[in-house]
Amino acid sequence: MRRISIFGATGSIGQNTIDLIDRNPGAYDVVALTGGQNIARLAEDAIRLKADLAVTADETRLDDLRAALNGSGVEAAAGTEALREAGARPADWVMSAIVGAAGLPPGIAALDQGATLALANKETLVTAGPLVMQRAKATGSTILPVDSEHSAVFQALEGEGLESVERVILTASGGAFRDWPIETLRSATPAQAATHPNWDMGQRITIDSASMFNKALEVIEAKEFFHLRPDQIEVLIHPESMIHAIVGHVDGGMMAHLGAPDMRHAIGYALHWPERAHLPVERLDLAKLGQLTFRAPDPDRYPALTLAKRVMERGGLAGAAFNAAKERALDAFIAEQIGFTDMAQVVARVLDRLDPDLGPIEAAFDLDNILEMDHLARREAEKVMAQAL
Ligand code: NAD
Ligand code: MG
Repeated sequence: MRRISIFGATGSIGQNTIDLIDRNPGAYDVVALTGGQNIARLAEDAIRLKADLAVTADETRLDDLRAALNGSGVEAAAGTEALREAGARPADWVMSAIVGAAGLPPGIAALDQGATLALANKETLVTAGPLVMQRAKATGSTILPVDSEHSAVFQALEGEGLESVERVILTASGGAFRDWPIETLRSATPAQAATHPNWDMGQRITIDSASMFNKALEVIEAKEFFHLRPDQIEVLIHPESMIHAIVGHVDGGMMAHLGAPDMRHAIGYALHWPERAHLPVERLDLAKLGQLTFRAPDPDRYPALTLAKRVMERGGLAGAAFNAAKERALDAFIAEQIGFTDMAQVVARVLDRLDPDLGPIEAAFDLDNILEMDHLARREAEKVMAQAL
């Protein structure tokens, strides 16, 4: 039986992962599940899947979790250090599906103990790409991309080296506001931004899709995972979300990956890799679909894409600064403290503030400095937001 752990088990990716596990429960020995505020869901899944350990990120909820697990034999734990310890528990396959930079330390712990890391948490590579890739190499652990675009690239590359790759095209739906007049974006509300035309995902990534911060993170993620130059990565708006990515080779041939927009494909691919298994996803009927459409993203509508280029060119701790500023700006937008278009403004200004003072961004690239930069950029975002935008 394969020993598996799921970080962020109560979220959208976590629940899709559990859906696949539930279809074949005898094949898996569940080590640890982690969650946040949804104690009832975490406890119910941990008991049904006979997990050894359930962890809530919130230290104040430990008693609630203990009560919900009472008599089940599942161990309860809480807090950041408990999350990291869950990552260190021996497992063969670990799903990293916490949202935000909080997913980094448990993911690194999983790599260090030699687990295969199925990586949905894009912030891991955005904040710490070179470090994480080097840790995986040092420990012989495998990282399998779960973000649908990166899984698509990985699958399109199957059996081929990266030497023949000229460019990688990541597709984007364009998000909730792709057809809104640009001048109306300022007044878009969190509820409006949290509806996605094609994918059913967590609230934060759905809003990031509307602003294209999600694609900005993915461009950086692709650079780190596939060792690409920034100029080799393109973004293409494809409203139907049927093609997830395209790999262009030096001979002009292009390999596209198609599938229904259902994360259980990318999760299931990582779960069964290097085999392919039957998965419960819709089969595309292309004749019925009739056509697929494409257009170039408008940089005025999606300033996040320009910021991603800046971050890739800057390198070092700029990814950690970018992500943390974005996370803090997103919190403020969700709390209706700033407007939709202010998010990119806040991130740009945080980068401006950290950039001239080269010290912090150019500090040694280790986990302590990455986490320190995360704190620093959140504080800078607070300062920027306290001023008029
Ligand atoms: P979600 O909001 O639905 O779930 C997030 C999970 O993380 C929950 O279990 C929550 O309890 C936990 N969590 C939240 N804050 C935490 C913290 N500070 N510490 C520890 N745990 C915390 O998110 P999601 O949509 O499942 O996305 C998870 C990750 O996968 C994100 O990085 C996202 O960008 C990435 N991703 C998601 C999708 C998707 O379809 N949902 C697709 C591609 C990539
Ligand atoms: Mg994606």
